[in-house]
Amino acid sequence: MATDETTQIIIDNAAAADESVYMKYKQLKKVNKAKLTSYLERLIELQQVEDELSEDLSERKRRHEEAMLEAINAMGDEVACSFCGKKKSEGTNIVTSPAGACICEECVALCGDIFAGRARR
Ligand SMILES: [Zn+2]
Repeated sequence: MATDETTQIIIDNAAAADESVYMKYKQLKKVNKAKLTSYLERLIELQQVEDELSEDLSERKRRHEEAMLEAINAMGDEVACSFCGKKKSEGTNIVTSPAGACICEECVALCGDIFAGRARR
């Protein structure tokens, strides 16, 4: 779209929203209309840059989240018990806490025994 057309559309929209704006525009001297046009062109350019930047940012955010998810999934294979160090790949079930601690089912059983007084602390 030609910038003149874009400018005209903006002015028409402004006129539709507020007729006094359009009346003021019509009363402007030719040199001031040109200044306004150049200001609107600059504004449109800035909006386009802003749109591109926000697309770029959301794409970066998406890639960042994807990388984080990959890292978390990769870590999932290597989760080890925070108490005995046994890994899930060594054949135990592991519960992870939101705080990042992990415990295997053997350690859970041992803790159960400790709490029940069947094992020494
Ligand atoms: Zn353990």
